[in-house]
Amino acid sequence: MKFTHEICGAIHLHTNYSDGGVSYEELIDAAASLRLDYLVVTDHMTLGGKKDGYEGFKKDVCVLIGYEHHDKNKLNHYLALGTENVAGNKKHASVYTQEIKNAGGIGFIAHPEECRHYFGNLPPYPWTDWSNDAFDGIEIWNQMSDWVEQLKSWLSVIRIVYPRRFLGAAPEKALQKWDSLNRIRMVSGIGGVDAHSFRIGFGVFAIIVFPIKVMLKGIRTHLYLENTLDKNDYVLSQSLIKNAVRDGRGFISNFRRGDARGSLFFIEYEDGTSDVPGKSRSGKLPAVINVVLPEKADIHFIVNGKHEKTTHGNKAQFKVESNGVYRIEVTRKSKAWIYSNPFPVGPSYPI
Ligand SMILES: [Zn+2]
Ligand SMILES: [Zn+2]
Repeated sequence: MKFTHEICGAIHLHTNYSDGGVSYEELIDAAASLRLDYLVVTDHMTLGGKKDGYEGFKKDVCVLIGYEHHDKNKLNHYLALGTENVAGNKKHASVYTQEIKNAGGIGFIAHPEECRHYFGNLPPYPWTDWSNDAFDGIEIWNQMSDWVEQLKSWLSVIRIVYPRRFLGAAPEKALQKWDSLNRIRMVSGIGGVDAHSFRIGFGVFAIIVFPIKVMLKGIRTHLYLENTLDKNDYVLSQSLIKNAVRDGRGFISNFRRGDARGSLFFIEYEDGTSDVPGKSRSGKLPAVINVVLPEKADIHFIVNGKHEKTTHGNKAQFKVESNGVYRIEVTRKSKAWIYSNPFPVGPSYPI
């Protein structure tokens, strides 16, 4: 199998270059102390951190800098990575997604199905333009949206003090959208941290209630690479990360439910070929999807968007006998722990 080197990092981070509560130094210190392999920083409409030299290996953490694009109404948030400039901002989502692609970048729809019921002054920022297909993936689980959506009132103080305790699961609507898109083409899934101060509206207090080290112990995106990261070769390393995240080679975890590093998800075909999740070629059916976890959990087999089977343990095998889109969800005590990217099985799309 080609992609055997797992790395674990955090995507969708804001710094004080836009509305985040931390400096690059604080962010990098926190990531290094938690042994994260990479960070993807996406401040709103700015690549200032990149221009100021924060990209590269910093304290052994591979730091990639993209940005979060929005339209003129501050809607349709889009995480862009791999471009040298911010696309023009007074444009429709279909224009900037394409412009980012044309500039050699990749992009992910941020918090696509965000909804907030309780706070008029904290509007949701869902994706409204599904007509274009220039995006590479979607953020299926956004730590900040999840937290805010569970707030019932400003009296939910415990949720503010323990921001990770209440992380529930990726929104069902986002998962359904992801599953239906994946029957048409491969759409990568990522998890986002999205630690903001302005979006929760506490001003300076937000920095205190969301310490970055705590936020980085939440939703993470694990990637399977064909090579290890090379601290002496940033250009190579960042392209390994970019390709893996674009192609959905990996899985998303919530560290609060356990350290998912070391988890394996792979498919073995009848002809002896095997592959990790994501954009992959298909071998000969039947095939078996294998799951190996560092700890016991409930392992769910999702077929074409429908829950098919659950087993309990730290290993599982699921038989695949026909073309379709297969993925794994893992829960512990009914709380979401891991979402694998899909295994598309079939000679061509749509599946
Ligand atoms: Zn956003
Ligand atoms: Zn954001």
